[in-house]
Amino acid sequence: MAEVPVCASCGRPLQPDETALTRKLINRGAVRFFCLSCLAEHFQVSEDVLREKIREFREMGCTLFE
Ligand SMILES: [Zn+2]
Repeated sequence: MAEVPVCASCGRPLQPDETALTRKLINRGAVRFFCLSCLAEHFQVSEDVLREKIREFREMGCTLFE
């Protein structure tokens, strides 16, 4: 039974895109994941920038983004 991942910073339940983005931006083997808001704060960018990244990675055919 798969556990629902939660943000390691704020505890919010995560979308698959958010765990995939954490892997992509921080570490492919990451075991702690962050939500879009906390990733945005960490990288000092807006959430829109991260959403755009998710779209780009998906278009590039990145297998993390199903
Ligand atoms: Zn968070």
